[in-house]
Amino acid sequence: MRLSRYFLPVLKENPAEAQIVSHRLMLRAGMIKQAQAGIYSWLPLGHKVLRNIEKIVNEEQVRAGHIPMLMPTLQSADLWRESGRYDDYGEEMLRITDRHGRDMLYGPTNEELITDIFRSHVSSYKDLPLTLYHIQWKFRDEIRPRFGVMRGREFLMKDGYNFDVTKEDALHAYNRHLVSYLRTYERMGLQAIPMRADGGPIGGDYTHEFLVLAETGESEVFYDSEITDLKFGDRDIDYDDVAQCQAVLEEFTSRYARTDETHDQALFDKVPEARRRTARGIEVGQIFYFGTKYSEALGATVQTADGKQVPVHMGSHGIGVSRLLGAIIEASHDDKGIIWPEGVTPFHCGIVNLKQGDEDADGACEELYASLTALGLEPLYDDRNERAGGKFATMDLIGLPWRITVGPRGLRNGVVELTSRRTGESEELPPEQAVAKVAAIYGKTA
Ligand code: ATP
Ligand code: MG
Repeated sequence: MRLSRYFLPVLKENPAEAQIVSHRLMLRAGMIKQAQAGIYSWLPLGHKVLRNIEKIVNEEQVRAGHIPMLMPTLQSADLWRESGRYDDYGEEMLRITDRHGRDMLYGPTNEELITDIFRSHVSSYKDLPLTLYHIQWKFRDEIRPRFGVMRGREFLMKDGYNFDVTKEDALHAYNRHLVSYLRTYERMGLQAIPMRADGGPIGGDYTHEFLVLAETGESEVFYDSEITDLKFGDRDIDYDDVAQCQAVLEEFTSRYARTDETHDQALFDKVPEARRRTARGIEVGQIFYFGTKYSEALGATVQTADGKQVPVHMGSHGIGVSRLLGAIIEASHDDKGIIWPEGVTPFHCGIVNLKQGDEDADGACEELYASLTALGLEPLYDDRNERAGGKFATMDLIGLPWRITVGPRGLRNGVVELTSRRTGESEELPPEQAVAKVAAIYGKTA
């Protein structure tokens, strides 16, 4: 993309309405624009990152054997009356009436709808296990939408639902989700710690929230510092292997890590004092086994191998896709702007032309642009007629992890400059080598 042809409405001033750094930077970098309280338009740069996050979520769900689909945003109130949640959900639910006077709602989540699909089409244990998921907009009429995309009213969520014959199978599905979530967040450059959460009125020990540590997080968290040393890495996982998934769960959840909702001071005190940490965290996901709550209410049963009719065991598992943009920025920025992890960056590399209109500089930039593109990479070329300082400031603000700077002086020595946004370190290289280096970083071969 050439910046002169792109739509990147960066703001020079700090927007007054933004209280936290991610919200401020998303507005300043021209990623989002508020349409109404808690409802945002995703401008091209923000949209690109949102899609990159979505892609990682999709890839990791499919890898775990979960099946993508898409349910609508508007749902019928009748289904929610069947589960009893139409009245229970309260004011967070946006209720709508159509021209025929039928009650509808903008889905805040999808347990009812997915259970309805299941009961219409599945009746035998032979069709299980089954995990279906979608990535769809949700609406919750939050009393205090704030912090930009972190607590919106309309927000994008991945929600997945597992259906299993037995509790044991459903717990394997739970573990599978935990493993797939660990991989998902790490690919986005994030450490998200599974913490024991509160099962709410349904109860049960089988729910974990994933928290990214950040000062601006809304949850207070208590943990054993050893947990921050755990890395999932690129280990090979067989998602059908019950013992292997269980072992990962144990590895990542055996140390003390809880939010204020489930915090137990007596247990926490057993952690050696030097390792006890109290901090704040952003909830970027939650997994939940809730048994037969919805299958019993909606009559979703299957026939077992010995001919019995049983309600299916279910769980639901969510990732806050749009909230993740805020969480990533909270975890990765400096005073100049965003620092995107390579896994989600909107463009792989920036190209800054120090002297637009100079024949050599223009030519070298065009060549870099063409070679990077030919390798399947997407560069953002700042080809505007602006001063170098302004171009650097824009690149730093929007946070591309790598920048190639091209100027007539360097070119006379046959070099361009490759700069890491994260470390600020630069090195001078012949243009082909700069391309090869960027390609290698993204796993492409020149
Ligand atoms: P919270 O406690 O933050 O209100 P929740 O526990 O009600 O969230 P879940 O039902 O667990 O949310 O939804 C799954 C994920 O969706 C959450 O982990 C979070 O990342 C995201 N999410 C929930 N509410 C919002 C919101 N208002 N804006 C953006 N993302 C949200
Ligand atoms: Mg939650």
